[in-house]
Amino acid sequence: MSTPTPETMQRVLFHSTIFGPIHSRRLGTSLGINLMPNDGKVCTFDCLYCEAGFNAQGPGTTGLPTRTQVAADLEAKLAAMQADGQQLDVITFSGNGEPTLHPDFEGIIDDTMALRDRYYPEARVSVLSNATRLDHPDVVRALYRVDNNILKLDSALPATVAILDRPTSPAYDVNRVISQLAGFGNRCIVQTMLLRGTHDGHAIDNTTPAEIDALIEAYRTINPAEVMLYSIDRPTPARELTKVTHEELEAIADRIRRAGIKVVTA
Ligand code: SF4
Repeated sequence: MSTPTPETMQRVLFHSTIFGPIHSRRLGTSLGINLMPNDGKVCTFDCLYCEAGFNAQGPGTTGLPTRTQVAADLEAKLAAMQADGQQLDVITFSGNGEPTLHPDFEGIIDDTMALRDRYYPEARVSVLSNATRLDHPDVVRALYRVDNNILKLDSALPATVAILDRPTSPAYDVNRVISQLAGFGNRCIVQTMLLRGTHDGHAIDNTTPAEIDALIEAYRTINPAEVMLYSIDRPTPARELTKVTHEELEAIADRIRRAGIKVVTA
């Protein structure tokens, strides 16, 4: 299969700061917040499976929304949903890249928690992060305040992280990140994408016994509230990746559960 050209390359999915609500069986009714540009992608990883496409598409032209804009847009949306009698189960930070890269991430989390309390006190606030910014105390403080602090760990083996998640910084060290995740302990949920395939001549399979053994050791060190295992659900920018079936995910989950770790599959 040919490598996608910039013209055919998968592009960002989210074209606004607030998106949705999206209805999902797993999360219920979820309102999304994208703190990255509306027409480009900015991330400290460049995962082969990223739904927002490769970093090569560039950061776009819109820049990042300001803290004031995020709060105003979110309040307008929550007020409209409330006036409409709509349900809301979760507000989720994800989008076109890594949300914790926003320079006002901590303040935006504070605003979001306050707006949630005012309009939908029962809703949960979730952040999906790749855990590359845990050396920033403001990011750590903010992640402690949210209800679902969901942090990515796709492999505990540096060589696999290098070809699957492709950290943009040469200083990235998965063992350091595992120690940082352990600092959160049960105040975090660890999310692991499992898949197989090839890319640029590299075979990729993070479901092998060696991979799962290394992940179990990392999960034991971290001791998270739970581990979420999932696989590909939408088109991926690297075309030669294959999904791990639900049955396989469950078999791997059972193996991890036998090590005393709570696991959910999606
Ligand atoms: S960390 Fe998330 S946003 Fe960044 S490249 Fe990976 S999947 Fe995409």
